[in-house]
Amino acid sequence: MTQDNLMSKIVSLCKRRGFVFQSSEIYGGLKSSYDYGPLGTELKRNLAAKWWRSMVYERDDIHGIDASIIMHSDVWKASGHLKNFTDPLVDCFNCQARFRPDKVPSVAPGTKVEYKSAKDKKKIISSEVKECGYVCPECGSTDLSKERLFRGMFQMPLGAVDPVQEFVTKNYDSGLSKEEFLKELQKEIADSSVYLRPETAQAMFVQFLNVLNTTSAKVPFGIAQIGKSFRNEIVVEHFIFRSCEFEQMEMEFFCEPGSHKNWLEYWKNERLEWYKKFVNSPESFRLRQHTEKERAHYSNDCYDVEFLFPWGWDELEGIASRTDYDLKKHSEASRTKLSYFDPNKKDPETGKDGWRYTPYVIEPAAGLTRLMLAVLCDAYKEDKQVDAKGEEKIRVFLKLDPSIAPFKVAILPLLKKDGQPEKAKEIAQALRKKGLHVSFDDASSIGKRYAKHDEIGTPWCMTIDGDTMEKGTVTLRDRDTTQQETLTVEEALAKLIGFLSL
Ligand code: ATP
Repeated sequence: MTQDNLMSKIVSLCKRRGFVFQSSEIYGGLKSSYDYGPLGTELKRNLAAKWWRSMVYERDDIHGIDASIIMHSDVWKASGHLKNFTDPLVDCFNCQARFRPDKVPSVAPGTKVEYKSAKDKKKIISSEVKECGYVCPECGSTDLSKERLFRGMFQMPLGAVDPVQEFVTKNYDSGLSKEEFLKELQKEIADSSVYLRPETAQAMFVQFLNVLNTTSAKVPFGIAQIGKSFRNEIVVEHFIFRSCEFEQMEMEFFCEPGSHKNWLEYWKNERLEWYKKFVNSPESFRLRQHTEKERAHYSNDCYDVEFLFPWGWDELEGIASRTDYDLKKHSEASRTKLSYFDPNKKDPETGKDGWRYTPYVIEPAAGLTRLMLAVLCDAYKEDKQVDAKGEEKIRVFLKLDPSIAPFKVAILPLLKKDGQPEKAKEIAQALRKKGLHVSFDDASSIGKRYAKHDEIGTPWCMTIDGDTMEKGTVTLRDRDTTQQETLTVEEALAKLIGFLSL
């Protein structure tokens, strides 16, 4: 199976089985967003719950919040997003593609290249790579525009009044030149605008004091959040890897100045190890340190957790040392002291008892929807099976860790009679009461039902047959080995509950 093949097989499985659908599909679809179907929703929720459990429930130094998506626009002014949250954009004059130059492979200036003319397909153009050091990723052309900056935040007016209509009505006859009119209008729109958050992080800085005061947390401590973020991406790519609406799992860890290097070391290892606990190929996850050029202006060190996607290594999570930049910026702009007082420390400058300082921050910021794609790539497996007629068949199965599988077990009556469906429903209900997401499935042949549950990653299938009615036994089939074992109903229930409460 080639890696291109793997990606198209995953996209097709996601659609066919109800993991991910194109947004607004019946209207032709919207390329930049996706809807998560019944199974995708479960997988995503399970991944989020796993992250929350490791970040919040298993520790006593991290507190969770759930902040609003729309925040005061001064937040984005102070954080620097209004000015700096931009991506470079280049247009190809040959094929009209639009791309981010920082995401395309570099080619040495002066390299001789050839590409097809988009107007006349028979014409081959010979050229040299210019100073910029890249070519169009679509057609290989060197006929490119200059780099322009493109704002990544979605902007919208807040309130009942349409600021454009209001401004035009007021200024229609004002005698302003076209340029002045446009400038004033843009200012008017900016003044009445709010933004969809491009990261969940800022709420955790803005709510730093409230969390500190209401939890009696002591530095070092963290604030965690899972939620939607929005970016007006120039190129949406690789299915759900990069979309305009996505979900993030972020944590801001506030620590004493000077301790940030140790905490960055701690968190980068902690986060890498977290992934390795529930995937099949831990070697497909690695850390990569950012070069100085890559780092955001507020960051003094940064690592990415990368995953080996079908197209190569790419970012799954950023772990940034953000210094005291954000708290200081919000302190200045809001005139609220976002600092911490430690009565047990001496102020390093004055030597007096008690130290007030602005904490430094380490931020592990992961993409939930991006992780879902990584987990699907990691879990997609094919093996050869011989069917009842002795023919060799390819079996597709998702080798998902049971803790994240959409269904934990499928309860399958062999026949739709002899009390088997009723018994199967009774067992399914008993497991549901224990909090397990269980599928009762009596459609189609048993072979087809096994195949379906293999493909959606259900770790076990429990078959209810004549023996269940007569002897009280069931068969439990393992998704990965396809081995079946016969157990009493009670043994099977105890085994499943035991597995899944881990
Ligand atoms: P990239 O370099 O891929 O654009 P980034 O460095 O801008 O990502 P961060 O700002 O560090 O991303 O965001 C933290 C995480 O949020 C990323 O590691 C990624 O998992 C996720 N993420 C960011 N942008 C998107 C997007 N457009 N679609 C899906 N997930 C995203």
